[in-house]
Amino acid sequence: MPTAEYEYKAAHKRVVEVKGPASHKPCQFCGTFAAEWSYNHQDPAEVYRDGYLWSESTAYYMPLCKRDHRAYDRAFRQHGKAVLAAVADALTEAGQQRYDEELREAVKASTFHRWRVRETALGNISPEQCAALAETSGERHSPQRAGAI
Ligand SMILES: [Zn+2]
Repeated sequence: MPTAEYEYKAAHKRVVEVKGPASHKPCQFCGTFAAEWSYNHQDPAEVYRDGYLWSESTAYYMPLCKRDHRAYDRAFRQHGKAVLAAVADALTEAGQQRYDEELREAVKASTFHRWRVRETALGNISPEQCAALAETSGERHSPQRAGAI
């Protein structure tokens, strides 16, 4: 049987394969660039073994910046699952005060651009879909701001 550490890492790797690198997404709470895929502790079939806790399903991972990932996991370790919804709300609110709307919009456009370029390069979306996505994302309306980040 593979070690828990191996399976834990493999599960996170699958998330990157399916959803792309976390750095191609805004942090789900504060809206700055995400750095890591974080298990949201909501999978009823989660696996806990040898001190590692993870989900085999990519649906239960969210992109977070390091700061929010640490805060979220710390809240879980100290207080358990019951507080996580409230912690998510508090981190989102704190993030909105830390970063203004303009920055969050710029991060959204920039990360979306990176995600789209990667998906197109991988052949997951066609150049036509790629162009259509750029239109609907509003990316073309703020190329300078997005590029400045
Ligand atoms: Zn964050």
